[in-house]
Amino acid sequence: MQPQEPLLAVKGVTLQYKTPQHLITATYRVSFDVHQGDRFILLGPSGCGKSTLQKAVGGYMAPTEGEMTLKGRRITEPGPDRMMVFQEFDQLLPWKTVKQNVAFALQSAKRMSQREAEEKALHYVDKVGLSKFADSHPHMLSGGMKQRVAIARGMAMEPDILLMDEPFAALDALTRRKMQDELLKLWEETRFTVLFVTHSIAEAIKIGSRILLLSPHPGRVKAEINSTTDPKEAAELERYIHETLFAHEKQEELEHV
Ligand code: ADP
Ligand code: MG
Repeated sequence: MQPQEPLLAVKGVTLQYKTPQHLITATYRVSFDVHQGDRFILLGPSGCGKSTLQKAVGGYMAPTEGEMTLKGRRITEPGPDRMMVFQEFDQLLPWKTVKQNVAFALQSAKRMSQREAEEKALHYVDKVGLSKFADSHPHMLSGGMKQRVAIARGMAMEPDILLMDEPFAALDALTRRKMQDELLKLWEETRFTVLFVTHSIAEAIKIGSRILLLSPHPGRVKAEINSTTDPKEAAELERYIHETLFAHEKQEELEHV
C-alpha cells in the first residue's frame, strides 16, 4: 500500500436488497475514501443506507455496482481486520464475564491461547475504564458499561478499521455524551481508524474528523466535509448540514405554498 493510498476506498457503490416483490436500492453510486486515523462519519436520515454501507464494508453484503477495497484488497467477505460495534445491548454473551467476552473473540478469530487472550483483553478492558468489572457478568452492568465492553472487544482485535453503527443511540442523553467523550479520549490514545454511523448532526460534528452527508433513500453522496472543534464554527456547520440534508424537503414545502 502506498502511503497516500486510502485505507478504505469505496468507489461507485450501489447496494440493493432483492425481496420476492421488490428490488430496493439502498445506496446509489456512493464513493468515499477513509484514511488511516480518520474518524469518518456516515451521516444521513433514517433509511438512507448507512447501515447497509457498513454491512458491505464489513463484508456481509456485496455491491451490485462499484467496489470497496481495504488496503488495496477488494472486500469480499467478513474478516477480523474489520470489527463491528452495534447499538444493541445484547451483543455480549451473558454467561461470560467481561474479560471472557473480550478474550473470546481473540481466541476464536486470532487463535490466541487463553492466557494470551485474557492478558490482551484485560489491557483493553482497562482502556475503557472497566478493570474493576473484568470478572462481572453483563447483567451486572449498565447500558453504557456494556457498550464500553463491546468497544473494548472490537478494539482488542486491533482491526484496521472499527465499524460503529449508531453505537450510542440507545443510551440516555447524559451517558451518551459521556461515551462520546470517552471515545474521543480513546482515539487520542490509540489513533484507531473508525467508520461511525449516526443520524445525529451534533454527534457527527463532535465525533467526526470527516463527515459524509448522504441524501434520503436511496443514499447518494451530498457532500463530504471536515468537522471542527471550534464551537462557533460547529454551530455554523450544524446549520449548513441541516440545510444541505433537508434542502429537498424545503423545496417541496415551497412548491406547496
Ligand atoms: P439506515 O441505516 O440509514 O437507517 P438502512 O441501511 O438500514 O438505512 O436501510 C436502507 C434501505 O434499505 C431502507 O429503505 C431499508 O428499508 C432497506 N433495507 C434495509 N435492510 C433491508 C433488508 N434486509 N431487506 C430489504 N430492505 C432492507
Ligand atoms: Mg441504520
